[in-house]
Amino acid sequence: MELASGCHHRCMDLERLGSTLSELDEPAYRLEQIWRWTAQGASSYEQMTDLPRALREALARIVPFSTLTVERETTARDGTVKALLRTADGRPVEAVLMRYRDRRRSLCLSSQSGCPLTCTFCATGSMRFGRNLTASEILDQALHFRRISAVDHAVFMGMGEPLMNLDNVLAACARLPGLGITYRRTAISTIGWIPGIERLAADRRPIRLALSLHAAEQSLRSELMPVNRRYPLPAVLDACRRHYERKRRKVFVEYVMLAGINDSSAQARQLADALDPHIFKVNLIPYNPTDSPYRGSSPKATAAFRDELERHGLDVSIRLTRGREIDAACGQLAARAA
Ligand code: SAH
Repeated sequence: MELASGCHHRCMDLERLGSTLSELDEPAYRLEQIWRWTAQGASSYEQMTDLPRALREALARIVPFSTLTVERETTARDGTVKALLRTADGRPVEAVLMRYRDRRRSLCLSSQSGCPLTCTFCATGSMRFGRNLTASEILDQALHFRRISAVDHAVFMGMGEPLMNLDNVLAACARLPGLGITYRRTAISTIGWIPGIERLAADRRPIRLALSLHAAEQSLRSELMPVNRRYPLPAVLDACRRHYERKRRKVFVEYVMLAGINDSSAQARQLADALDPHIFKVNLIPYNPTDSPYRGSSPKATAAFRDELERHGLDVSIRLTRGREIDAACGQLAARAA
């Protein structure tokens, strides 16, 4: 299943802005001037007070300020904000802002509307696949939250498989440093899409790679993540090792804890056997309940799983759950709104 690039408006909106500016006979530096305002959280052309008023008004008429509109936005008690956005052609897009006590401000971004993969525990996986998002649509998720808060980290753990839309994901990543999010603080999460891992390994930017693993046992992994039949785990782990060798940055393994499914101590040992502690760090993820039949592991089972991995020398952390009461897990809002 090779997807076409899916870029509906063939260009980024910054390009559209650039061509509009040259049609209006504006000097070349205007584009950078507008981008600086936007990256620093401006919410309209009107606020860009060092642009001539007539230009601000012309732009407001010609170039939409964002490719996305906000349909719904919810703030959880812990400060997590989840937005349900829409593309101009009506596709749902979810994005989340997570605020932590250590002041970290992390964005969770979507790369596709819906997802063509069908992981059985994931709400997005049960939605119809829409299309790849354009670079502007990815960037506009980040800009939306930049208007609310300073930001410093981004993870592609929203809807979709980023490595199936890598050109647009990388084009958006290239703009994130302007918002305060460096490459080192950007992570791309994949189900294990090998051609994408290889392309990312060849790219020089120090973007973090994260792998959704969820089961070391092949048959179980194929059940949870049917894509494992196409790209089996041992080959995926080899690709991750090559990524590590090129980038010298640990690959983060994500492991969603599902009660009675993948959380036994034998399964922890099997996972430890598959992972070289020099290359991989493990994040255990509490399951956010969806309409699927799965239940999350208990805190006790999760802690025991972590202890077993640590006995094998792995670096492990248990991810904080954010925004549970606002359906912040992958695809939950959009699946309901679809
Ligand atoms: N397609 C990519 C990125 C999107 S999903 C990938 O799979 O890595 C980002 C992470 O959220 C994945 O690790 C996924 O397994 C996890 N996830 C999906 N649904 C979840 C849920 N209901 N609760 C907790 N984590 C979930």
